[in-house]
Amino acid sequence: MPTHADPAPAAPAEHALLQRLRRLWPYFGQYRLGWVLAIGSTLLSALTEPAIPALLKPLLDEGFTEGDLQLWMVPTAIIGLFIVRGLAQFASKYALSRIAADGMVVLRQQLFERLLQADLALFSRQSASQLANTIVYEVQTGATLLVQALLNLGRDGFTVAALLAYLIYLNWKLTLIVLVLVPAVALILKVLSRRLYLVTRESQDATDELAYVVEENVLSHRMVRLHQAQTQQGRRFAALSRRLRDLALKATRASAATMPLSQLVAAIALSTVIAIALSQGRGSGGGAVTVGGFVAFIGAMLMLVSPTRRLADVVHPVTRGLAALERGLELLDTVRPEADAPAAAASVPTPARGDITLRNVSVRYRDDAAPALDGVDLQVRAGETVALVGPSGSGKTTLANLLPRFVAPTSGQIELDGIDITRWPLATLRAQFALVSQDVIMLNDSIAANVALGAEPIDRERVQRCLQQANLAEHVATLAQGMDTLVGHNATELSGGQRQRLAIARALYKDAPVLLLDEATSALDTHSERLVQQALNTVMAGRTTLVIAHRLSTIEHADRIVVMERGRVMEQGTHAELMARGGRYARLHGQSLPAEPAA
Ligand code: ADP
Ligand code: MG
Repeated sequence: MPTHADPAPAAPAEHALLQRLRRLWPYFGQYRLGWVLAIGSTLLSALTEPAIPALLKPLLDEGFTEGDLQLWMVPTAIIGLFIVRGLAQFASKYALSRIAADGMVVLRQQLFERLLQADLALFSRQSASQLANTIVYEVQTGATLLVQALLNLGRDGFTVAALLAYLIYLNWKLTLIVLVLVPAVALILKVLSRRLYLVTRESQDATDELAYVVEENVLSHRMVRLHQAQTQQGRRFAALSRRLRDLALKATRASAATMPLSQLVAAIALSTVIAIALSQGRGSGGGAVTVGGFVAFIGAMLMLVSPTRRLADVVHPVTRGLAALERGLELLDTVRPEADAPAAAASVPTPARGDITLRNVSVRYRDDAAPALDGVDLQVRAGETVALVGPSGSGKTTLANLLPRFVAPTSGQIELDGIDITRWPLATLRAQFALVSQDVIMLNDSIAANVALGAEPIDRERVQRCLQQANLAEHVATLAQGMDTLVGHNATELSGGQRQRLAIARALYKDAPVLLLDEATSALDTHSERLVQQALNTVMAGRTTLVIAHRLSTIEHADRIVVMERGRVMEQGTHAELMARGGRYARLHGQSLPAEPAA
């Protein structure tokens, strides 16, 4: 991953915890009133804790003897106390949940927008399930766990403080002994939390891998069945699943060890305190310990055990929550937006005329592989239709992808209307191209929304016209909801040819000056190909068109045909010129289909 100005949170030291939490403040700190409410009500509910042993003390000291204490007072006070406590707990829980929910909306939106703007390299680095996991689930889990942990931390922290204050008030000498044991617990937690953090990160990655196997098998479910690869895939899943289980158990061992250890420490503390209190109480010199005071002290101390134990447990959700949220933050840190031209870089003509120039352009996807394009020089004049032909793997798609900057050239220049494409504002540049490719991707939305993708509001008449030109209007008319019919997940409810024509309608709707057709008609049968070809011919008129075709018959009328092989331009000219020359094109044409070496 590319290093960034912000250091990656690889190995967090304990002291960095506050710093890490501070990084989240912009997301979760915006609801100020919520924090005030949460802290206030948590404080209030914590204060009610020592009130219970405090009520028992006068009851024991005076309640069963004659005194000014009325019989109804203590039970009524207890009920009142629990009403106050219940309301305070409700308020603090609600306020913190609201803080988490509000923060998540902001963080998620930022992540998703980053995804929309991300340099395309991200999508070869991270799988769809990995990204979905980070943006949808990890952020949710992280925020929920962290907020719950904070709630517990606040409540139990305050409770412990309030109880300790009451203990000091009752008998500060005894309290000192209790306090000696706190650092011991803290030390145990420190050792465990670090291990826990690392295991947690590892199991998040394992979750991604597991989700990825599911994603892949959903995408290729037909092939998996056809090749009887179920057992194999099942084994692959089982291996990853077992790894995840091992990691989960490892995390549980680390967190489960915390609880008995801290309980043991608490038990030792309790025994010590009871022993000392008893000897003090019996000793004639002490004398200060009353029955009520002793019961209240032991009661408050016992009440200290469970919040302390929960404080020990808080480490797990805090580390888990932080790790999850930091995966999101890491995505924000490491994903760079696409390089865009500075705003005032060039005054560009819009719409473009459509003059395209490639000068000595090379593209290398990997250093250890042959270049996909190797020193290509090509000039396409405005309004011209240029066809690219050549065996698969010869670099045709790569060439088309260069123009809207889906791929960056390793060397060489590309110009649109005489201006280097890196000097065009990215959005303006992309507005100049309409693309129909072989692998049509449709959104799970209505036909109209797919045709008018990106346009708001949708011009329904124009959609209708485009559907007609793409020879799809007749089919759409047979659908109950017409152009408002939902197309299903990636338009699987349409046939291959219909999907292709829908993509053509989309390109028509965009009405861009340059048309890129990457094997746009190869999924069609001969009949519908002819229909679509007619439609395409009318659109291509007056527009710069780069057409990549599998079937040579469809591009015979192109103004120029460029023959590519292994990333180089081998020959170019009109159909007649190339046939007369008797070179590669003539040979390709001799075969009904171009050779298909396994790429
Ligand atoms: P064509 O469209 O002519 O079939 P492509 O432009 O798709 O050819 O591919 C040209 C070469 O670049 C092929 O060898 C292919 O394996 C390689 N290639 C294409 N896309 C990528 C990619 N995203 N990453 C790595 N290699 C790629
Ligand atoms: Mg291709």
